[in-house]
Amino acid sequence: MNKTLCIGFLGLCVCACASHGQGLHIAVMKVNGVACVGMPTVGEHMKAMKERLAQANINLPITGDVSQHIKFFDAPAWFSTDPDWYIVGSGDPLMLSSRAKEIMDAARGGVNTGRWIIYVPEVNLYPDVPALQDMAGFAVRADTFGQGEDAGYIGNCFVSATDGTLYTPTHEVLHIWGLEHNNVAPWNLMYPEPSNNKDPRGTKRLTTEQINAIRAIFN
Ligand SMILES: [Zn+2]
Repeated sequence: MNKTLCIGFLGLCVCACASHGQGLHIAVMKVNGVACVGMPTVGEHMKAMKERLAQANINLPITGDVSQHIKFFDAPAWFSTDPDWYIVGSGDPLMLSSRAKEIMDAARGGVNTGRWIIYVPEVNLYPDVPALQDMAGFAVRADTFGQGEDAGYIGNCFVSATDGTLYTPTHEVLHIWGLEHNNVAPWNLMYPEPSNNKDPRGTKRLTTEQINAIRAIFN
């Protein structure tokens, strides 16, 4: 049976479907009034997500102008002097920085249900680990981040407007739904290095086992 995922309109999900708690909202940061990512790019990302979720009989009801489904929000005031903010603060390597939380709060605007896909100019995890800067995306997963006072941020993901690729939002949302990395098959949607796949378009896909795992969430 097909399952329809609810999707936020202007950040406000009003539907009451069974998958409501797993429904998706999309937010895009504006810097000096300009969206950090182009709408054609977001449209391609969502089309790719829709196609891949359809393989698991999950319907993502995005149609027409993708901007109608997006909540735009302004960059915080500190962004102009600290564009290289980090997701993790100093101290505990699994605790979110106050800046990351401030951005998530601004993106959600008080709508804390469902899962948020938040486009930001860049995604940098730790200040001292070059390999974890300029990342394609990041998900606040319940099994790693989101502990203690950060628990209210579980289910949010950041997508880099600079380094994200066609399937980055799909990859991060699938993390939120519990899928782990597949470290052996570059064609797999959960392969951790998006740039290692020479041609991700039309080739990134899931295994039957992965499809069954995400199907189980909506049953
Ligand atoms: Zn990943």
